[in-house]
Amino acid sequence: MHAHPKAPAPPAAPAVLPTVLISEVGPRDGLQSVQAVMPTAYKLAWIDALHTSGLREIEVGSFVPARALPQMADVADVVRHATALPGWVVMALVPNLRGAEAALAAGVHKLTIPVSASEAHSLANVRRSRVEMVAVVREIVALRDAVAPGVPIEIGMSTAFGCTLQGAVADDEVVWLAEQLAAAGVDEIGLSDTTGMANPAQVRRLFQRVRAAVGDKTGSAHMHNTRGLGLANCLAAYDVGVRTFDASLGGLGGCPYAPGASGNVVTEDLVFMFEAMGVDTGVNLGRLIAAREALKAGLPGEALYGMTPEAGLPKGFAGRRTA
Ligand code: ZN
Repeated sequence: MHAHPKAPAPPAAPAVLPTVLISEVGPRDGLQSVQAVMPTAYKLAWIDALHTSGLREIEVGSFVPARALPQMADVADVVRHATALPGWVVMALVPNLRGAEAALAAGVHKLTIPVSASEAHSLANVRRSRVEMVAVVREIVALRDAVAPGVPIEIGMSTAFGCTLQGAVADDEVVWLAEQLAAAGVDEIGLSDTTGMANPAQVRRLFQRVRAAVGDKTGSAHMHNTRGLGLANCLAAYDVGVRTFDASLGGLGGCPYAPGASGNVVTEDLVFMFEAMGVDTGVNLGRLIAAREALKAGLPGEALYGMTPEAGLPKGFAGRRTA
């Protein structure tokens, strides 16, 4: 037998692509941070455009009193519209039991409750201590169990990486709070860099510690781009096993503490990063970028961010790029 030299075989395509879930939070986190109130018809057209891009999860608003946040006065109608579109999970933020009752009555697929890791932020923001907030979460879990047992509850742990009022937030405090919330019966606990203070080393460390404490209840990475580290922080979270990422189209929201900086991580740039790495987002980037037009129409004059929409897609880009 002669050994015949052979050309190297082409690399086998992986049977299953690594995947991530991009959770679009612009209609909630973005809109609540701008002065203007987007008229409902424009909001629905924007949500339709986001749906067309292939996003599989969206946070469409907050169930809070309209006098507190006029941007969210139409949230029940927005939920009803979004839940009629197939193939995605429609979430709403609820800060208390009354909000949870209204959100479940409107038919949301999933609830998200903000709980501050910083005691100072909790007292300033919701006038409740963290321990009092855990009690509120327990009430919401009991309500969910009674009327909508199939609806998951996620915690967005705000100020997990630092607080503008208190400064540093100790890792031990975050882990302690995650344990309390897991014991209260929530399904997922995500970590939010509300104030844009996180760095990649901290993101890796804290997500690993939270996973060691609460296992598969570890939820999404909610990163802000206040100091330009949003994508780096998302990649750090990905490297330690996080697979759900919150982001906002056009980085909507800005940041009052850092003029010129976008608020949330820009969805377009985040999708580009993952797709370029060969990580499947399920999102068609061409259609996602096109959805900016619907956002601009509803918020004329509002600053939008994003490097990928400015630069365009590279030649030969292999993501889901067909427009
Ligand atoms: Zn946020």
